[in-house]
Amino acid sequence: MPATNRTNRPTQPRPATRTVACPTCGGPSIYDSSNAWRPFCSQRCRQIDLGAWAHEDFRLPGENPPTAVPGQGDA
Ligand SMILES: [Zn+2]
Repeated sequence: MPATNRTNRPTQPRPATRTVACPTCGGPSIYDSSNAWRPFCSQRCRQIDLGAWAHEDFRLPGENPPTAVPGQGDA
C-alpha cells in the first residue's frame, strides 16, 4: 500500500497586500508601498481629500495684537 505522499501542503503564498478602506470613497485601497496614494485608493481620492482640507480654510480667530507700544508715554 503506497503511502499517500501527502506532506504538509504548502499554504499558497498570499500576497501580503493589506487593504484598508479608502477615507474618501470607502473602497478598498491597497495599503502597501506600491500604492503611492495610500491610504487612499487612487490619486483622485487623495486629491479630493486634499481639496476638502483646503475648503476647510484653516483660519485662526482674528486676534488683534495690541499695536500700542506700552511704556512710551509719559514716564
Ligand atoms: Zn477611494
